Amino acid sequence: MKTYTPFISGAFLPWQGETIPSIDPASGTEWSRVARCGASEADAAIRDADLAFRKGPWASATPSERADMLDALADTLEIHWEELVEPEIRDNGKRITEVRGQFAGLHSWYRYFAAEARKLTPETQDNAIPNVTSVGHWLPYGVVVAITPWNSPLMILAWKLAPALAAGNTVVVKPSEMTSASTLEFTRLAHQSGLPPGVLNVVTGLGHEVGEALVRHPLTRKVTFTGSDFGGRKVAEAASVGVVPTTLELGGKSPQVVFADCDLENTVNGVLSGIFLSNGQTCVAGSRLIVEAPVKDALVTRLLERARGLRLGDPMDPATQVAPLANEPHLRKVTSMIAQAKADGADCLLDGTQTAQGMRGYYVGPTIFDQVRPDMQLWREEVFGPVLAIIPFDTEEEAIALANDSDYGLAAGVWTSDAAKGARVADGILSGTVYINHYRSVDPGSPIGGIKLSGYGRELGPDAIKDFLQVKSVWTGTAPVPDPFP
Ligand code: NAD
Repeated sequence: MKTYTPFISGAFLPWQGETIPSIDPASGTEWSRVARCGASEADAAIRDADLAFRKGPWASATPSERADMLDALADTLEIHWEELVEPEIRDNGKRITEVRGQFAGLHSWYRYFAAEARKLTPETQDNAIPNVTSVGHWLPYGVVVAITPWNSPLMILAWKLAPALAAGNTVVVKPSEMTSASTLEFTRLAHQSGLPPGVLNVVTGLGHEVGEALVRHPLTRKVTFTGSDFGGRKVAEAASVGVVPTTLELGGKSPQVVFADCDLENTVNGVLSGIFLSNGQTCVAGSRLIVEAPVKDALVTRLLERARGLRLGDPMDPATQVAPLANEPHLRKVTSMIAQAKADGADCLLDGTQTAQGMRGYYVGPTIFDQVRPDMQLWREEVFGPVLAIIPFDTEEEAIALANDSDYGLAAGVWTSDAAKGARVADGILSGTVYINHYRSVDPGSPIGGIKLSGYGRELGPDAIKDFLQVKSVWTGTAPVPDPFP
């Protein structure tokens, strides 16, 4: 059985220490192991990345030379991405159709930020002072620590790594202890593409052990984190010790607001994709269905028909429509939240724990609850699973208030054939992203991120590279300095 070991200074470390099992969620059996790194590996990885930042080919590369290296990485990914598919599926159980879709386009995030690196030039600043010019120079931070979750390890890593490298930083990655394999296979390819040693190091293990040691390390200059709001708080606390800036991409409880004048089939597709793709394990999962009373019965009937027909199965089988949840603790969390919703009095129209009965592995099928109240756990807390909660509304104001009655603010959907109403409601909803008659798209050119408990900072978009840069203002006098004490 393969043991995945940390990657530091361009090579996989030999490993004699403790390991953590990687469990295949489709069968519940161990398929590989991963090194349980601690403070000493964190220290080695950060020191090596700091050296690569200060000396050697990366340190002396111009932005356009760095862009060439990112393009070479993108070229390698275009040829070799299929090698990454199986390790990710064995680790997190995401179905092959979705993983292949993500990985066939993995190169495009790196190409986008390679192009952004080529645009980096000093910027002349406006100032009102005579005979003095000021120019802003873009400085990379140094060592960036990137901490990723288990749901889409390589896509989320790309959103961090591509802009961080384009900006000239070096990066130490800590993938989820549940899903480290694909990150290490990717790192092998990145070095094969010519990325200099130390520019991308990977340490594996538990968040509160090696993750926190990375964040607290005195040479860490910036942290970018995607995960739960609990993990985000811990990371922000640890980063505050060294006054290290953080970007936090956290959870969500995203509303789908459906008006009676919507295109019903279009809306059904959007709501289904919002909550049941990746088995609900996406940060933007549209888990709260807020539906105008006159269309509720028709919409729910159609959703139930479609959800009942979805095929649970092996994530490696392209015919599978619902794959397992990613790990056993998560299965316990999702099933206990379903049980709590029933105990709280919500009406379970479709029970995915029943659908999945008798299946080996960590399966829960699509689950739909009606008669939900805003004070219920199911309405307030992130399930991160295939569980949809429904509340009807009568007025536009009520719909916006229900959408905003959440501690989170990551994404939202609005479904209506009235463009002015769509724009009004989008304007009224507090979240980092709103989709109108559409759901779930992400693109390198459009920023993504949250407000409230969904985090702060933005990934992607033309400004994302600046999240990994600091401005140094350089002032130059062009006339003699007058005597200050004439
Ligand atoms: P998690 O917070 O448990 O773990 C995320 C990562 O943080 C893991 O690598 C973990 O080891 C590490 N970690 C945990 N505690 C740490 C600590 N004290 N110090 C340093 N590192 C620590 O989250 P998860 O369960 O892996 O992921 C699911 C969560 O991620 C969900 O809440 C989901 O909404 C969120 N998510 C958000 C986005 C987004 O873009 N906003 C995208 C995907 C997932």
